[in-house]
Amino acid sequence: MDSTFTRRGFLHGTASAATGLSLTAQLPATAQPLQPVVVSSANGLRATQKAMDLMHKGADTLAAVVAGVNIVEDDPNDNSVGYGGLPNEDGEVELDASVMHGPTKRAGAVAALRNIKNPSQVAKLVMERTDHLLLSGEGALRFALAHGFKKENLLTDASRMVWLRWKETLSTRDDWGPGLSILEDDELAQTPEQQQLLDRIIANRPTGTINCLALNERGDISGTTTTSGLAFKIPGRIGDSPLIGCGLFVDNAVGAAGSTGRGEECIKINGAHTVVEMMRRGASPTAACLEAVKRVADNYNGNLKKLSQFNIHFYALNKKGEYGAAALFGYVGPNRKRSQYAVHNGRENKLLDSAYLYEAPLKPTS
Ligand code: ASP
Repeated sequence: MDSTFTRRGFLHGTASAATGLSLTAQLPATAQPLQPVVVSSANGLRATQKAMDLMHKGADTLAAVVAGVNIVEDDPNDNSVGYGGLPNEDGEVELDASVMHGPTKRAGAVAALRNIKNPSQVAKLVMERTDHLLLSGEGALRFALAHGFKKENLLTDASRMVWLRWKETLSTRDDWGPGLSILEDDELAQTPEQQQLLDRIIANRPTGTINCLALNERGDISGTTTTSGLAFKIPGRIGDSPLIGCGLFVDNAVGAAGSTGRGEECIKINGAHTVVEMMRRGASPTAACLEAVKRVADNYNGNLKKLSQFNIHFYALNKKGEYGAAALFGYVGPNRKRSQYAVHNGRENKLLDSAYLYEAPLKPTS
């Protein structure tokens, strides 16, 4: 019997044989099957589970991660991605996404895509059905429609209300918000409540994204990152998520990395590529993520007052199945929520604490 023959390999082989995709049969005789691993941002526990289930059935790593993040893109209650995502300053949801397929060394992406719920699927099609890598705006929409995607209104009532509230609290010198006949005299100025809300939004600008990376038992790696981007952004703004090397990078010989958080900072250090290059030189996934976070902090000479205006998070997975993540801040938001990430290691699916550079941002008043 082949020395690589294990019970797990047998089970996987049997499941996938039904689909005509026997993974173990494709392993070189001497290769040990690896333990599959899926890593994601903290909002991705359902994505890691789905991706792992699909890989167990023999799915390709990219098909698995895209199906995983589709759950979050479709969820109206996740206001950082796809349907229900927070809109740009005009109230339009604009989505960014990228995919990378390690074994075939290909990538695809879309940016500022409107009215299509699953930008990660469109990014995958850009990779598969064009000789381009990144389509944006109107062209990306037309490409998606040509491939049969349906145009949908992505703004949920909840996201629209958040956007309206943001717009109404921006200034007392415009006509958004209750008019003169309704406002009391003392409301003509920004109320302390309005001011507080505005300060909170500016200090903790709603951000969010899902990144998902997967390694299968053959050592093949893929990843995707998908987002509605920075809330209330200027229309046309493109973040790190659709930029290969920034919000996502995969090298099948080394590993993969992704990012969430303030995209402008990630782009300035070519975040995901930096993490993968660190791993190529021998850094552990956690150490590589910390190095990327440190470079972000260095761009502000470690000025904590400035750094406290945002957070950024890196996630990494290497060829051996080791994984890690690091954030700029370990505890964020008004309730000091722990920065975490999701991992399915083949046995269990759970949230783990991320490493971090600084414990918590400075309070807005300090
Ligand atoms: N990285 C995303 C962007 O800048 C946003 C986020 O992850 O919160 O578009």
